[in-house]
Amino acid sequence: MAEETLDLTCSINGAAVVINSGDTILSAARRASLADPIPTLCYREGSSPDGGCALCLVKVSNDKDPDTTGRLVSACHTAVQPGDRVTTRTPDIVRNRREILSLMLNELPAGVASRTRGGGRRGGDFWQLVDEYGARAGKDTNTVATGKQQPIERSHPYLRFDPELCVTCRRCVHTCEDLQGQFVFGIGNRGADVQLLIGSNDRFADSDCVACGACVDECPTGALFDRDREPDLSSRRSSAGSSNRPLTSLTSVRTTCGYCGVGCGIHVVTDGMRVVRIDGAEASPVNHGHLCAKGRYAHGFQASPERLTTPLLRQNDELVEVSWETALAWLAEKLTTIRAESGAESLGAMTSSRSTNEANYLLQKLFRTCLGSNNVDNCARVCHASTALALRTVTGTGAASASFADIESAQCIVVAGANPTEAHPIVGARIKQAVRRGARLIVIDPRRIELTEWADLHLALKPGTNVALFNALAKVLIEAGLIDHDYIDSRLEGFAALQAFLAGDLLNEAAEVCGVDVRDIKAAAALIGEAAPVLFVHGLGLSELTQGTASVMTLCNLGMLTGSIGKPGGGMLPLRGQNNVQGNADMGALPNLFTGYQPINDPKVREHVNSIWGILPPEAPGLTIPEMIDAAAEGRIRGLWIQGEDVAQSDPNQTHVLGALEKLDLLVVQELFMTGTAERAHLVLPAAASLEQEGTFTNGERRIQRVRQSLPPPGEARPDWLVVRDVANCLGAGWDYPDPAAVMDEIARVAPHLFGGVSYARLGDDGLQWPCPSPQHAGTMRVHEKKFIRGRGQLVSVDHVPSPEHDVDAYPLLLITGRVLQHYNVGTMTRRTPHTELVTKDWLEISPEDAARSGISDQARVRVESRYGSVELTAKISARVAPGTLFLSFHFPESHTNVLTGPHVDPDSHCPEYKLTAVRLTA
Ligand code: SF4
Repeated sequence: MAEETLDLTCSINGAAVVINSGDTILSAARRASLADPIPTLCYREGSSPDGGCALCLVKVSNDKDPDTTGRLVSACHTAVQPGDRVTTRTPDIVRNRREILSLMLNELPAGVASRTRGGGRRGGDFWQLVDEYGARAGKDTNTVATGKQQPIERSHPYLRFDPELCVTCRRCVHTCEDLQGQFVFGIGNRGADVQLLIGSNDRFADSDCVACGACVDECPTGALFDRDREPDLSSRRSSAGSSNRPLTSLTSVRTTCGYCGVGCGIHVVTDGMRVVRIDGAEASPVNHGHLCAKGRYAHGFQASPERLTTPLLRQNDELVEVSWETALAWLAEKLTTIRAESGAESLGAMTSSRSTNEANYLLQKLFRTCLGSNNVDNCARVCHASTALALRTVTGTGAASASFADIESAQCIVVAGANPTEAHPIVGARIKQAVRRGARLIVIDPRRIELTEWADLHLALKPGTNVALFNALAKVLIEAGLIDHDYIDSRLEGFAALQAFLAGDLLNEAAEVCGVDVRDIKAAAALIGEAAPVLFVHGLGLSELTQGTASVMTLCNLGMLTGSIGKPGGGMLPLRGQNNVQGNADMGALPNLFTGYQPINDPKVREHVNSIWGILPPEAPGLTIPEMIDAAAEGRIRGLWIQGEDVAQSDPNQTHVLGALEKLDLLVVQELFMTGTAERAHLVLPAAASLEQEGTFTNGERRIQRVRQSLPPPGEARPDWLVVRDVANCLGAGWDYPDPAAVMDEIARVAPHLFGGVSYARLGDDGLQWPCPSPQHAGTMRVHEKKFIRGRGQLVSVDHVPSPEHDVDAYPLLLITGRVLQHYNVGTMTRRTPHTELVTKDWLEISPEDAARSGISDQARVRVESRYGSVELTAKISARVAPGTLFLSFHFPESHTNVLTGPHVDPDSHCPEYKLTAVRLTA
């Protein structure tokens, strides 16, 4: 929103400058882009002015106020007044600045400037200021350099702190608090002994630091620095993907982070062969320059010697190197043979949410047009399929209604079944800042995630009881009159039925089922109702359950009853796991839908798609991923093409999955590394990583963003889209896409209602949020603003149904699986970076009560057994889990987490139940 502009001016260095509401002298001067900018050290954009360094002293006069005439004031925290005449440089001011800088220099050892490389990219450069103002230790003061002798702190794999370079300007303190929402730094002592403190014992490794690196960006002296850029770590740098090439040969490419579905904008700086560093893109509307540890530092896998570099074909039970020509011809011939022998329905494809929209689109098109099979699905099936189905059913589109920017305008945020500070850290940081500014926060999660420490209320429900809790909240909202009657009357259907459905003693029953006190349910409903519109941020803790679809639909009830959906600061914001899981589904890698969620059996849609493709698949839907695995186990699927998914590790009921893969006559895998799935393949095709190709990803707020190449792929590795195109042509398709941009042009034609206005020429750096139906359309920040896409929003009346994993005899504990901050999915990428020094293995979190009951000590090896398998794990006693529940991540293959998870799926979405498995601990 534009700031209110007053019709008033001041003058700065003789130039008239319009004063905006709330302006300080510094903000007015910065907006005026002075030729001689006011220097700052402690000031940080976005934090309250500290005024500690006094380097921004300027001279102010004002005829209306003779007291101000010629007064020196700090520009960063002095409000500018109409009629002020500001002078930013006079001999007095220069002398003052020189003295301040000299005093700071006096606290540093002599010669220290020669060993630093200067300040971070946002922090300015202290050393440049020293030169500019001619500051010298001892020159303008009565003291000489003291020479603090303090060791460099290097306990963290990514961060270094050199106390001898620190001028205690406090920028890092403010940045950590006001951007990341951590409180890692403090200031200790006074006067000459003042010093920066890191955590409770001055070690990053033992502190709450999450390694976002923002403090490095802000540090003006280089005291805080990225370890992988230290010259004395050349051995680490080569393994982590950096190099020692001269800085003059560096290039920077603006692209999109290849980790989670937040989709942060990044600048990748390379020396042409390897990543030197990754910076957050300041202009990105997603992250505003901020990054998490994965996006900023976990790029070392790129240069790993374990990358696949040539096609590998199984011969005599061994994978041997072959040429691309041989590999592609072999694959085309094999697909053709299996189809001829067993029909198109015996072939299936799983597209990758790590790959680009263009690769996903082409693989589903290949299967549908070249082979005639609708057996195409994507890994959203095993994460957000329930979310997509639920949202599509009740609103008309399966994606987020809101955008990340709504976090800033939200008065109340409900985080349900999501752990943003670990799985989507930039969103997590934005939520923390919203709370610091006054937003109310309710966390609904069985586990005490980090955000519970920031929340007004934590509803720690029993796993798998979301529907009961959301129904109870809806009942309280309705009965307390905390609902938006106008919105309900004009925009929704199903209200009377829901009201009747929620009658009776449902509240006490729900409290019993969920294990949540009735008073807390009422308090949460009151908060939601009174603060509406409310932003509902939700995740896999809702979706990956047998009642996944019902969980999301009943959460939507709350969004609709309170009139939140389609309003600023409100709506539904599901957090997408992988970088392109949204786009993967958008592209039509779904067994029943073409690109843009168009039903494959709709005659009009078929006619339209046929006009572009010239050939159509059968009308009957294909198989979902769990169905394809079952069909493979039964011999009905003979050939599977898996693009960048390690289903051997990531899919539930691992024993069953491995058995199914073993039965295939054709398993082709496109991958970066030799994963558990690739090891079982007949053909392995080396893939380009996200920094090594062109294309697009779509993030969790429907923003289609460019992926730009900054490095060549290693060896003969190729982008997925190119491989798919070439196989299609081996099958006789005659596809002539010269580049991914041409593929996007076709995507826009196939699904014009969502992507008609999308082209590479329009995407620019910030991308476009779909729906973007025409070249004149600016994209859609908020869906359902005036009316729901389906017409009226649907309130649903659906009851809680216990999971097959509830109340299982002899298996008294409930296991939840999920991510931790430091790693990503099955760890294929992060395990090949120094992130393994941060978290070395998966831990089984067990409550102190259960640990005591079972005689388990911290770090003890324990055996966990479900009805589907058993594994041995290391216990971590943690109050984050409630008694009766356990938590286990799935980042390390040796943990075999998915040996434990079972076969149950949501009956509508077919999304597996990862979030709930009945287990027991055995000796
Ligand atoms: Fe990358 Fe997600 Fe971290 Fe952003 S929050 S830097 S997209 S991993």
